[in-house]
Amino acid sequence: MTTSTGALADRLRHLLGPDRLLEGDLARSLYSHDGSIVGGACGLVALPETTDEVAACMRLAHEAGVDVIPRGSGTGLTGGAVPLDGGLVMSLARMREMGDVDVANSCVWVQPGVLNLDVSTAVAHLGLHYAPDPSSQQACSIGGNVGTNAGGPHCLAYGVTVQHVLGVEMVRPDGEVVVLGGVAPDPPGYDLRGLVVGAEGTVGIVTRVLLRLTPLPPDVRTMLLDFLSVTEASAVVQAIIAAGVIPAALEMMDRNMTMAVEEFVHAGLPTDAAALLLVEVDGTAAEVDTATAVVERVARTHGVRTVRVAQDEDERALLWKARKTAFGAVARVKPSYYLHDCVVPRTRLVEVMAAIGEITAREGVMCLNVFHAGDGNLHPIIALDRSDPDETERAMRAGDQIVRACVALGGTLSGEHGIGVEKRDYMPLVFDHDDLAAQACVRRAFDPDGRMNPDKILPTGTRCGEVGLADTQVPEGTWI
Ligand SMILES: Cc1cc2nc3c(=O)[nH]c(=O)nc-3n(C[C@H](O)[C@H](O)[C@H](O)COP(=O)(O)OP(=O)(O)OC[C@H]3O[C@@H](n4cnc5c(N)ncnc54)[C@H](O)[C@@H]3O)c2cc1C
Repeated sequence: MTTSTGALADRLRHLLGPDRLLEGDLARSLYSHDGSIVGGACGLVALPETTDEVAACMRLAHEAGVDVIPRGSGTGLTGGAVPLDGGLVMSLARMREMGDVDVANSCVWVQPGVLNLDVSTAVAHLGLHYAPDPSSQQACSIGGNVGTNAGGPHCLAYGVTVQHVLGVEMVRPDGEVVVLGGVAPDPPGYDLRGLVVGAEGTVGIVTRVLLRLTPLPPDVRTMLLDFLSVTEASAVVQAIIAAGVIPAALEMMDRNMTMAVEEFVHAGLPTDAAALLLVEVDGTAAEVDTATAVVERVARTHGVRTVRVAQDEDERALLWKARKTAFGAVARVKPSYYLHDCVVPRTRLVEVMAAIGEITAREGVMCLNVFHAGDGNLHPIIALDRSDPDETERAMRAGDQIVRACVALGGTLSGEHGIGVEKRDYMPLVFDHDDLAAQACVRRAFDPDGRMNPDKILPTGTRCGEVGLADTQVPEGTWI
């Protein structure tokens, strides 16, 4: 612990009490990781419970000149909540209060530690839900969703987090509390609320979020389509939307993933299929009937083998359980996994799936695909055993080539997980030096001392006003 961190610890212990400042080796080890394979080094962990406590902690960290790393549930997949070099982890997990629902305006203020699924559960009796539904929704927090601008299966039709956050209360690096956005639509001036969503904790700590609530659809139908070729399944994704139907969700699973999931969930998935599409349509009963007919017609012209329509809520829930537990099912194959969530235009799905197949075969790694196909948001999960350095090396190489293939096909680095550390040094693939320097200026306007979640998003050495950055490399030794 550095001198400044030691002095800060004394003051934080006095502020929060010894139970809410974690300093032991076990805690520091746990908080040095998230859901990714990035590992770091944690200094202190504070567990504030109110906005005032967050602000007081931030003032103390500011005075001590110590870095601050905001953290929700730690399910992030890019190392965003991982402290790389000591500092103070601010865990918002204890801030779990929800305000009263503003039914007239269909919105509610919640604290950042509230879990995503808990919002929809709490407002269901009002006929409402919170639409963005990451597959991790039982565990991930609203603060983390705001940090990453999270997506989910139903974001195809409903939009991602930024479309459902009307306002935020945020504590700035010096401890000042600001409110950005609000109930009134289209507030004047720059959209700073929009900037905070997806900023991965680099501009401040979000302490309350005003969420837009969406009416529950009157009718829903869920279908499972199975194909003997990944190419045909990929082509159907674009064809359904081209036929004028935007499903509420349009997810794909390849054979490797289907086999792992079926062993785990026993949902009756056809394990001999090359690819499955999980398609959900919603709306009025008439709209659902029409959309179902279109989906079935398009699928049949692309060689679908079977169309299974969920007959009741239990069957629908089972199909969604199969989809949403897919990442966990990888544990049946290998103890760990490595993935990127690059995006390609939907029209390039056929090509990118072929490229992923070639890359992973060449590197001799096992890839399980499960992804938000309608958004072109890929999740090629490379199963690996991290105790095998050769396999880990091949997985990293395959991941690198997949990122580059996606960008070459007109795609980009992340659809929902954010940049964090994992994709930070790929940013020059999609932004030139001047763009990166301009982004550094925006960040500096919020955080002049560079203490908020440093080393995330922008490649090492990116400076405000600086042009002509040297080419950057994925750092050695950050990965474990
Ligand atoms: C099995 C599994 C499935 C997943 N499926 C999806 C999916 O479908 N869609 C998707 O988008 N993601 C998915 N994820 C990734 C992850 O769950 C999301 O990125 C989620 O938004 C992270 O939330 P969290 O609370 O765990 O945040 P953390 O991991 O704790 O933090 C994420 C980022 O947000 C910042 N942050 C956290 N809280 C705050 C705050 N209060 N103020 C400011 N910054 C903050 C952190 O600094 C960090 O940069 C999945 C992960 C797993 C393990």
